[in-house]
Amino acid sequence: MRLFITLKPLEQRIKGEGLYIDSVPLSDILDLKVSPIYVTSLNSISQRLNYYKSALQKHFTNFEVFYAMKANFSFPILEEIKNSGGGIDIVSIGEWRAALKAGIKPEKICFAGVGKKEEEWKEAIKGGLGYLSVEHLSELNDILFFIYKNKSDEIKSLVISLRLNPSVEVETHPHLKTGALNSKFGILFEHFEIWLNQMKSQFQDIEDYKKWIRPLKGIHVHVGSQLMENSIFPLIANKILDCADFMLKNNIIVKHIDFGGGLGVPVEGVPENGIDIKSHIDFLCNTFKNAASNYKDLIKEWGKDFNNLFVCVEPGRSIVASSTVFITQVLYEKRNSDKNLFCYVDGAMNDFPRPSLYGAIHHAEIVNFKQDVNLREKLKNNFLNWNIVGPVCESGDFLSKNTLLPEVQKGDIIAFFEAGAYCRSMASTYNLRSLTSEVFVKDGKILHVIQG
Ligand SMILES: *Cc1c(COP(=O)(O)O)cnc(C)c1O
Repeated sequence: MRLFITLKPLEQRIKGEGLYIDSVPLSDILDLKVSPIYVTSLNSISQRLNYYKSALQKHFTNFEVFYAMKANFSFPILEEIKNSGGGIDIVSIGEWRAALKAGIKPEKICFAGVGKKEEEWKEAIKGGLGYLSVEHLSELNDILFFIYKNKSDEIKSLVISLRLNPSVEVETHPHLKTGALNSKFGILFEHFEIWLNQMKSQFQDIEDYKKWIRPLKGIHVHVGSQLMENSIFPLIANKILDCADFMLKNNIIVKHIDFGGGLGVPVEGVPENGIDIKSHIDFLCNTFKNAASNYKDLIKEWGKDFNNLFVCVEPGRSIVASSTVFITQVLYEKRNSDKNLFCYVDGAMNDFPRPSLYGAIHHAEIVNFKQDVNLREKLKNNFLNWNIVGPVCESGDFLSKNTLLPEVQKGDIIAFFEAGAYCRSMASTYNLRSLTSEVFVKDGKILHVIQG
């Protein structure tokens, strides 16, 4: 099931009428004569953002959904998020500038990132940034002193969060783990404890200390991406609460908790009714509230109904992955042996990097058969195990391995699904190929075409 993307049975996929993206038929996309191309349904993005919002709303009065734009930073997507009232999670100054250009308000932006340069955080803070997550104690030092010394009113409302490394192991691709002891992300609680005790002792006057520490009022965790289960979360909730409790004892009232992103997307796509998002958020919020009930001092600050707490999430993949198909055209085929069949397409690892980068599996289908007359013949034949490969000069350049498809022919169109997250945003010009083109569809119409 895919929100706003409909694949018809094989028999109907002739003349491009077998695939619809938000009721726009594939034939309209093929008429653009651009290949390979990403096709995105913008409505499906706002719908999934809204699923997050309504799920959070059931648990907390004050909340925000920051879309992690590194998953897909295309301009029409950012505009769609803005128009749907979402916030944006950024990880570089380039993303900051792109978000502002798309009309996102600075106070709706959360800046995370493990290696921010001084000029990057300064530009964002001076520009009215709403939320900043720090990942190093020396970074925290520099930023707190910058704000402490700065007289401008603009930066008064900035909320700084400590990105906690909860040192937990989660099940996902090693490159997607971000909350383990061997991870470069976040700050260990033990280190923060030592640091705060040391820093505090440098202030003679408690009011002065309070003024200096004032912007630090949040805790942030993000333990990994493409997570298919969340049984580790109770442990994480306790680590957040222990940290918040320690901060409270040191005159820091945590007002802001950010649970990060990470909800995984299965190969078969996401449920249309948003049940995956709802149950994920319900689990997170219920677990957190239950655990918090043991922390009396914190509850006194937050209130029994948590009205004094601001809770956020930063989903990337789960918002955009299923909004998009990657469309590519068959060039040739080659059969080295019965077991080594190659289907060459015009899309490559530079356009669609996840299979070669992460070994990711994306469901592939032939969505338009070039020659109708042969269709019957093709359908009768057995399906074969194809390696779908691109023109880049590397054996690592494959889009899928052992994919069951009918006989392929030059001009056939193959679609890869769940292609909205970490695909186009990781595209490159390797081999001096053009950046991949994109088309955006909304309310049954083609809205934008961005040609690479
Ligand atoms: C990448 C990232 C996210 C989004 O993760 P998804 O798996 O795409 O939901 C959220 N927060 C931070 C800090 C990130 O780096």
